[in-house]
Amino acid sequence: MSRSTPFDTLLVANRGEIACRVMRTARAMGLRTVAVYSDADANARHVREADEAIRLGPAAARESYLKVEAVVEAARRSGAGAIHPGYGFLSENGAFVEALDRAGIVFVGPPASAIAAMGDKSAAKARMANAGVPLVPGYHGDDQDDALLKAEADKIGYPVLLKASAGGGGKGMRVVESAANFQAALEGCRRESQAAFGDQRMLIEKYLTQPRHVEVQVFCDSLGNGVYLFERDCSVQRRHQKVLEEAPAPSMTAALRREMGEAAVRAAKEIGYVGAGTVEFLLDIDGSFFFMEMNTRLQVEHPVTEMITGQDLVEWQLRVAMGEALPLDQDELTITGHSFEARLYAEDPEQDFLPATGTLTRFAMDLEGAGLDPERVRLDSGVETGDAVSMHYDPMLAKLIVHGNDRAQALATLNRALAALDVQGVVTNRAFLQRLATHDAFRDADLDTRFIEKHEETLFAPRRYSIEEYAGASLVGLHQLARECESDSPWDRHDGFRLNAPHTIRIALCDPAHAQDDDDSEAVVVVEGTREREDAAWHLTIGDETLTARLDPLAGDAVAITLDGHRRRLQARRDGNIVVIVDPRGETRLFWRRIDAIDHGRQEAESTLTAPMHGTVVALLVEPGARVEKGMPLMVMEAMKMEHTMTAPADGHVASFHFQAGDTVGQGDVLLEFAPDE
Ligand code: ADP
Repeated sequence: MSRSTPFDTLLVANRGEIACRVMRTARAMGLRTVAVYSDADANARHVREADEAIRLGPAAARESYLKVEAVVEAARRSGAGAIHPGYGFLSENGAFVEALDRAGIVFVGPPASAIAAMGDKSAAKARMANAGVPLVPGYHGDDQDDALLKAEADKIGYPVLLKASAGGGGKGMRVVESAANFQAALEGCRRESQAAFGDQRMLIEKYLTQPRHVEVQVFCDSLGNGVYLFERDCSVQRRHQKVLEEAPAPSMTAALRREMGEAAVRAAKEIGYVGAGTVEFLLDIDGSFFFMEMNTRLQVEHPVTEMITGQDLVEWQLRVAMGEALPLDQDELTITGHSFEARLYAEDPEQDFLPATGTLTRFAMDLEGAGLDPERVRLDSGVETGDAVSMHYDPMLAKLIVHGNDRAQALATLNRALAALDVQGVVTNRAFLQRLATHDAFRDADLDTRFIEKHEETLFAPRRYSIEEYAGASLVGLHQLARECESDSPWDRHDGFRLNAPHTIRIALCDPAHAQDDDDSEAVVVVEGTREREDAAWHLTIGDETLTARLDPLAGDAVAITLDGHRRRLQARRDGNIVVIVDPRGETRLFWRRIDAIDHGRQEAESTLTAPMHGTVVALLVEPGARVEKGMPLMVMEAMKMEHTMTAPADGHVASFHFQAGDTVGQGDVLLEFAPDE
């Protein structure tokens, strides 16, 4: 069989961080590396780093990274003997593997038959039941009649979880809390599943209310050996997508680890598995575990396993693909310390995690400046400063992976590293990751898959700010303003910047989320300066507190802010009206405006809703003219294979829609005219 052929050239049929990561190991093993790219990625990092790169086609994944013939042809042209698929794209596509088999190219992954056995969630469940792997109670039959599905759901008992049989990545999946919501959820899931997978079949499972997601890394070679490389806890998820992962799973016992590990290897052997695979389980509070699915590829979160085992899983994959035996036996594998991974996405947590695009004006991490040990921190990224983040692909920019001697130490390192990440130009979820990673319940490893939902109130709570944060933000804003005005001190200005009251500036600060609200959630900082530049001290008054303050710029965006003799090193900048300050305890964003000058800060209530990004209109949910309350859903858009609901900005009615279901809209297009109540 072709999989035992040695090869000296590896084509990586992927992009972004995983393409870069795979090529790193391939190079270290002495292999020549070939990248493939779409027009949107002609100058992407994975292309720059490869020995050779071959164009696949236009930006749309369907016409490039997902195009089997184009990838096979690229391997032929470059003389690649093997293809690593990464994750996503063609990694779990049996037809692709068959095409490679026919072309005599090694697929770095399992045989097509194993992918087929696990590719469909319903079929996989049937197979696992035969192999004696425990399953969540549910329905995974072929009959997809609405009434029958409903009857099955009723029988299982609510809440149930609807899942696309062909699904993955959390798409086409919905919790149904009660019988009354079943039909609507079924339709939504089918729509999403059709769009993402071209398939509408659903399965139903009992929805466990407090399970943890614990998955086992398995590895099999083509000689019949199989091992498990322990588990990862991926319970912290948003919309069923992993956000933070760790290994080992907190409070795992040796006995349970062995039991789950052996069940996972049994599952892999049942389907004749070869290569790296992950068997995902739900672990219930009582310690019982249930098979969810097997991912027949390298997972996004594989680095946490690498960190605790000291193994390079891509090297293992390549060796197995060359026909070698597994590098280690089960009893040679051990766990050292603890590891976390945080996924950095280009998305805006303040806008319901809408994917963000733009150009990364800065993407860097100063390990030394932050006092981090390079052995303990790994940033797997597919981007660099200057790179564009487009709307065509998954919005994950990078993964931050850390290691510590124990969980507490690894967590402290994670928080420090998150603060050291300097990303500008594109909105990311970094602050959200910091809020998760500094959360008390996360520190206490009080985990289950509803962690984010459960702690929504604290994770998304309107922030309370300390005097220090207000003081720091007011100085950072002023400092930037002064820099923009090309003067060291705003008090030196002689134009309109100068104040009516010469030595006093008043700054109002509030949570950016409430910048347009008409309430008095603002803090006012009165800043008094001195003209003498040698004495850069300012006097700040906030409420009835007065502080002496100074700001010293350090390298890059780092500054030192000293308040009453207490000096702190932070990263700080001003993006338009928002001041951003980052330190290991989290990110502070404050809407900043001067209230001694003309007030440009506030805007009228919006009378139009614009498309937050390029996408398709899925459904209009109200009739024009019908009265709606603030927050009610008005229309559904789909972008990046996820649905986004546009809601009413105020009480009022929709005057008109500018698009119909099925229409394509561009970012910034006016979707509808909204008439707020007087
Ligand atoms: P996908 O392939 O789309 O990632 P999975 O079947 O792996 O979907 O499920 C993803 C996540 O959804 C799990 O990690 C878990 O958090 C949650 N989940 C799945 N099945 C259940 C269930 N029966 N009960 C509760 N949560 C579930």
